Amino acid sequence: MATSDPTVKTTQAVDETGSGTDRILQTRNLRKQFGGLTATDDVDFAVEAGELRCLIGPNGAGKSTFLNLITGVLEPTAGSIYYNGSDITDLESHKRVDRGISIKFQVPSLYQEFTVRQNVRIPLQRVASSSEYESRTREILQRCNLEGEIDTVASSLSHGQQQRLEIGMAMVLEPDLMLLDEPVAGLSVEESADIAELLTSINETDGVAFIVIEHDIDFVESIADRVTVLHQGGIFTEGTIEDVRADPDVKRIYLGEEH
Ligand code: ADP
Ligand code: MG
Repeated sequence: MATSDPTVKTTQAVDETGSGTDRILQTRNLRKQFGGLTATDDVDFAVEAGELRCLIGPNGAGKSTFLNLITGVLEPTAGSIYYNGSDITDLESHKRVDRGISIKFQVPSLYQEFTVRQNVRIPLQRVASSSEYESRTREILQRCNLEGEIDTVASSLSHGQQQRLEIGMAMVLEPDLMLLDEPVAGLSVEESADIAELLTSINETDGVAFIVIEHDIDFVESIADRVTVLHQGGIFTEGTIEDVRADPDVKRIYLGEEH
């Protein structure tokens, strides 16, 4: 029967990510080709509810492509994405957001000419009534340690403050799964530590699951439960940061990048 909602509670989606499982996300044979180039190569990948996973791998490994498939920014060539008991492979991106998948892109997406308060209002309008705006805004800003900046224009914030604001704005929608593409790229050690603390706190206090793409291995070590290494579009290995760090094959693929 035809339905306007392309989400289907298939047996497989329920079996793999339904309420009787620990998993929130599972991909099966997920594939993305750009012409003759296979950027995502039949990936089976799972995340548990409340887990903080980091995705690492050399440049061009397919990390951003993979994240964009999960958010629906890109359409897969083949394969399936199961989330919270439903098959979301064909679901539009904004509907995935409504279901609790939130993304923070590699490029900042704040309205630079708006104040912090005005930026926070954008996601708030989707979930709160106007009488709640002020209190919810303050709550969110307290969470990302930006209370003092409520009337500051976004373009005047430091890079680290902008990143924290974007993460706070993503939290307004109360996601179950947050996806971040290189959240500390270009940040100082102190700014990165602030982001690490914020992500860990959201993960531990709110039970939000994360997939975080990051190059900075010290940052990864400071936040990750488990690490997945992507290489040439496929999963190269998975394990704890200690396992991955000690793996000579992982060192080899990173070194290969420089040759
Ligand atoms: P990473 O984020 O790990 O650096 P990407 O996912 O950005 O890697 O890219 C994986 C591969 O897919 C690269 O070879 C890249 O050039 C290619 N690619 C990514 N996006 C596109 C696109 N829109 N069109 C064509 N090729 C792309
Ligand atoms: Mg990338």
